Amino acid sequence: MSEIKSSPQDQSVDWLAFCDKESTRYALDAPWVKDGWKFATDSRVMVAVPTGEPDSPPDAKGRRFANAFPLIEPALRPGIEWQPLPTFERCERCGNKGTIRKTCSCCRGAMKVKCDMSHNHDCPHCDKTGKETLSCRCFVMLGGRRIATEHFEKIAALPNVKWNSPNDNCESSVFFSFGELGNCIAMAMPLSAEHDPEWTERKLVTT
Ligand SMILES: [Zn+2]
Ligand SMILES: [Zn+2]
Ligand SMILES: [Zn+2]
Repeated sequence: MSEIKSSPQDQSVDWLAFCDKESTRYALDAPWVKDGWKFATDSRVMVAVPTGEPDSPPDAKGRRFANAFPLIEPALRPGIEWQPLPTFERCERCGNKGTIRKTCSCCRGAMKVKCDMSHNHDCPHCDKTGKETLSCRCFVMLGGRRIATEHFEKIAALPNVKWNSPNDNCESSVFFSFGELGNCIAMAMPLSAEHDPEWTERKLVTT
């Protein structure tokens, strides 16, 4: 892989945090460049930063790069009023990490399981840690959309981040601008509008 020069706004993004290591259909496990924009997405959140880098060469595994520009284009239209990001209460369960580390439900922390022959085997579930990571199922409400904490916090960590919800369709994405010049774009897909009682809302902190 060739060494890529990065601009200051590139360096303000934790690119790998936005990538999808599991993706098979598209090449989403690393950022890519297309037509002057550098993108990364895990298909729930996306970041896009203007760049002078050339287009990425074809993926070595023959996977396609997502055609991402049309997704961010609504956020580049003139006249959008970007607003400061609100502050939300801290989630008591996950501390806003979006995930909880718990004792492995398979080996109950012993890191070993007994097979039918009564041998001890390494637990196949927890990679010999005795722990597992669960999604916390907490969210914040932005523009009438529910955004899962793990997605929201990735975006909230970007520098100088502001937000805007461009239309009334509650299933559509929430857009963010970030970077010193405010010309970098992030977006988050909302959770389903259907109410799931297992999800808990992190309330707005009012001042
Ligand atoms: Zn939580
Ligand atoms: Zn285990
Ligand atoms: Zn065995």
